[in-house]
Amino acid sequence: MQYDHILVRYGELALKGKNRTQFEQTLVRNIRFALQGTPGAKVKRTFGRAIIELHGEPLDEVMEPLRHVFGISSFSPAMRASNDIEAIKETALQALLQHKGDTKTFKVNARRSYKPFPISSQDINPMIGSHILKNTEETTVDVHHPDVEINVEIREQGTYITCGRIEGAGGLPVGTAGSVMLMLSGGIDSPVAGYLSMKRGAELEAVHFHSPPYTNERARKKVEDLTKVLTTFGGSVKLHVVPFTELQKAIHSSIPSNYSMTIMRRMMLRITERIAADRGVLALANGESMGQVASQTLESMYTINEVTNMPILRPLVTMDKQEVVDISEKIGTYPISIRPYEDCCTIFLPSESVTKPRREKAVRFENTMDFQSYIEEAVENTEMITFGGESGETERDMDSLL
Ligand code: ATP
Ligand code: MG
Repeated sequence: MQYDHILVRYGELALKGKNRTQFEQTLVRNIRFALQGTPGAKVKRTFGRAIIELHGEPLDEVMEPLRHVFGISSFSPAMRASNDIEAIKETALQALLQHKGDTKTFKVNARRSYKPFPISSQDINPMIGSHILKNTEETTVDVHHPDVEINVEIREQGTYITCGRIEGAGGLPVGTAGSVMLMLSGGIDSPVAGYLSMKRGAELEAVHFHSPPYTNERARKKVEDLTKVLTTFGGSVKLHVVPFTELQKAIHSSIPSNYSMTIMRRMMLRITERIAADRGVLALANGESMGQVASQTLESMYTINEVTNMPILRPLVTMDKQEVVDISEKIGTYPISIRPYEDCCTIFLPSESVTKPRREKAVRFENTMDFQSYIEEAVENTEMITFGGESGETERDMDSLL
């Protein structure tokens, strides 16, 4: 007898009716997507849980990708027994013996969801407990601080027995909240903002501005690699790469240098909004954190935000840099983000930017150039690359935005 199932638990408190069905269906789809590397494993939905049948796939290889699936609160390797008390007792013993981790003290928690089963939960607990004590050495029961809790769930289809639980990624299944257009630089912050948007159920698309030849291929590769990491949390991500050189040159030559950063941000936002609208995406996201740099003061956000009516998610807005770095290390984007290539924002830009840019001034400066045609040109020449599609392959094609 060995662990041949995984029991998956998800947050269920806030879920009712139609939302619940959609949540469960999306979660199961995402689990299947995450388990493409172990095709033998089968995912099934039972009331309030998902069950994975391993069918010979290695337990550890199935558990690893599960850690990244949003919507899962916890999961546990499980053994299945028929609804027969002798079988349940023996399976619980085996589950404990094969549990990886301390098992000196234990506690049994039986839950009888299938009421026709003739023995109550309170009576099952001591029956299993004494069977384990009889067949092990140096094991004792501790109901307050056990090394391991043995959970026994009796359901109509059978009884699932688990020892301990592994924490899941939490959040909501990607795809239950619609899509978000992430502004993705090569920095530390924006990939984390993308990860946190996905955590609340958003599917992700990303926009990256690059300025060849001032930014090079390796800078672009960096952004592609960051996008690939983000796909591990939610399937496919479309990356829109916007050629930004001409617009930056135009800003450089016609806008006073202390306002060029503000105007550049407004242009980025206008283009991102256009791409989002063309893709049917309802919200934007970026990696801004309040007060972090000149462009992220409240005055700056106020002036830059003027150009769009779309909601902008700023998942990092209240975080300190170290909190963001901690998340980026945890999710694996940090080593990519610190590769030393120039971002389009760092070239052309003056060392001094106003920290309190005013809307009237921004509008006045913009009226001195025909920025609309630059925006059209940039949108038209945007390239779209899909990462992590159904086949796991990358698909490259010119955007058909217009
Ligand atoms: P990050 O680490 O995400 O680059 P940052 O702290 O360096 O953030 P800025 O460079 O001021 O801050 O950028 C603020 C936000 O603007 C970024 O988080 C990102 O969402 C967006 N952004 C900046 N540069 C680009 C770019 N080249 N392409 C797309 N979005 C960008
Ligand atoms: Mg940056």
